Amino acid sequence: MPARLLQIVESTTLAADLIAARTKRIHAAVLSKSKTLDGPNFTTIRPADLELLFAQYDAEFFDDQIAETLGAIPLHFGLSKRMTSSGGKTSRYSGGADGTQWYEISVSTTILMGCFGGDDHRPLTASGLVCRDRLDALQRVMEHELVHLIEMLLWNKSSCAKPRFHSITLRFFGHTENKHRLITPKEKAIVKYGIRPGVAVRFRIDGAEHKGIVNRVNKRATVLVEDRQGRRYSDGKHYAKFYVPVQLLEAIE
Ligand SMILES: [Zn+2]
Repeated sequence: MPARLLQIVESTTLAADLIAARTKRIHAAVLSKSKTLDGPNFTTIRPADLELLFAQYDAEFFDDQIAETLGAIPLHFGLSKRMTSSGGKTSRYSGGADGTQWYEISVSTTILMGCFGGDDHRPLTASGLVCRDRLDALQRVMEHELVHLIEMLLWNKSSCAKPRFHSITLRFFGHTENKHRLITPKEKAIVKYGIRPGVAVRFRIDGAEHKGIVNRVNKRATVLVEDRQGRRYSDGKHYAKFYVPVQLLEAIE
């Protein structure tokens, strides 16, 4: 029974300035130790960097008791381009006849590299906290995923929708939100271009200008343009559907 980890998790409440000092120390340590990261808004990252970040967090916040509790159970780290709606994911796997177990923490490079890129260095909010740079944002993701791992280790199940999870992330990291997200392409479209469902837009495709209403926003926006040849929608009108990159849309009043 991982008594020491349990005791730490249940009895710790950290003041905001202490959390800030520790996360800042981790930020500096990771940048100085990493062989890949070329700065706080790094342009490449490898799984080894996640491992390094994990080890720093385990040492600063949990007295190395996560690694201690894992013992011989492997913890893998992965980077995924395919995850587009959540910043991170923690999974437990078991395989083979002997039921060998391992854990994996994976992070979405699509989401991570989608923020603080190019000229867009505006701060974003993750877990209710403002992040100043890409590494800072990655730290919020790691903090969230660490708590998933801890819950799996201590109680077998983990849910970031439940009060226990909220209590741990608040007491250790000051998180006031518990969602798997940083800034998604959808949020970026809203923040950067004012494009969201219901907004009237204008765009040009193949030299022709169209006006329509944004219906959905994912990687691209779905825009409905009135068209008698188009499909009939619930408002009784007929629309043609266009999938348009949000940067090509101009919101009109
Ligand atoms: Zn979660």
